[in-house]
Amino acid sequence: MGRLITVDDLKKHYPVSRSLKEMVNGERPAVRALDGVSFELEERESIGLLGESGCGKTTTGRLILKLEEPTSGSVTVDGQPIARLKGKALKEFRKQAQLVFQNPFDALNPRLTMEQSLSEPLINAGAPKAEFSDRIAAVMKQARLPRIKEVLPKYPHQLSGGQLQRIVLARALILGPRFIVADEPVSMLDVSVRADILNLMRDIQRESSLSAIYISHDLALVRYVAKRTLVMYLGRIVEDGPTEEIVLRPQHPYTKALIAAVPVPRVDQDRGPLPIKGNVPDARRPPSGCRFHDRCPIAIARCSVEDPALLPSAPGHRVACHLVAKA
Ligand code: SF4
Repeated sequence: MGRLITVDDLKKHYPVSRSLKEMVNGERPAVRALDGVSFELEERESIGLLGESGCGKTTTGRLILKLEEPTSGSVTVDGQPIARLKGKALKEFRKQAQLVFQNPFDALNPRLTMEQSLSEPLINAGAPKAEFSDRIAAVMKQARLPRIKEVLPKYPHQLSGGQLQRIVLARALILGPRFIVADEPVSMLDVSVRADILNLMRDIQRESSLSAIYISHDLALVRYVAKRTLVMYLGRIVEDGPTEEIVLRPQHPYTKALIAAVPVPRVDQDRGPLPIKGNVPDARRPPSGCRFHDRCPIAIARCSVEDPALLPSAPGHRVACHLVAKA
């Protein structure tokens, strides 16, 4: 496996005011959606970005897909900074990098049939029209959509949520991408079809050389599909390691709290109080030092003044906490 994507010190700040009066220390106030994120993705690897709403995981996905430009930092694919891509090179990148949308009911144009929806990416990529029907049939087979002739003339409202999400997936795969970003890919589906779609995504990854970034707040989903997990909090990665290690032996206090908050389907089991209280702080004014210090149950004086770096705690495992021993 070679390196596919390198994310280096990526930041995305959204200005919230243009008024000079509101400037603080010479800077306009901004929502710091992402504030210095670095990681790598290998070919054929699947990673999960895990965290609460507003932690920056969706912003990370959008920057990697070049749907937005970063405030600073870089994303490189095969060693090429995507910020410089233009014209033909950008078009080629768009074929390689695809997004799987969260809500299949919104992702498809209600006025287009399934055949038209699946043809759109081929038209945009300039594929020869003579290839359309073979490519559509192949990708529907890949997405385990039988009865092709029956499905293709239908409109979105005529299909179930599970079928629609398979079409969304087929649409993302039709140009043969090298990686996908799947943002909460099953959160809008009934529980009964979620496992089907996740199994399908795992099978597709096994059968092809696809890499994947799964974005979710759901630890169970990430555990099911991702070999490595990056836990995010307030625009930063706080823990990065093999998923099973993170689930069974979490090291960062925030990861421990996320795992403790997972519901247990047993009414007779007393889980005790959750280890953290309160909400994620305002991303316009992140706390000083460790961003988690005002919610952390084991914070010490140093935590409110000194920002912990994300450092290795074991081979393949990084943690941003002053109280976790470094390797
Ligand atoms: Fe808690 Fe301090 Fe570690 Fe931050 S650095 S997670 S506040 S112990």
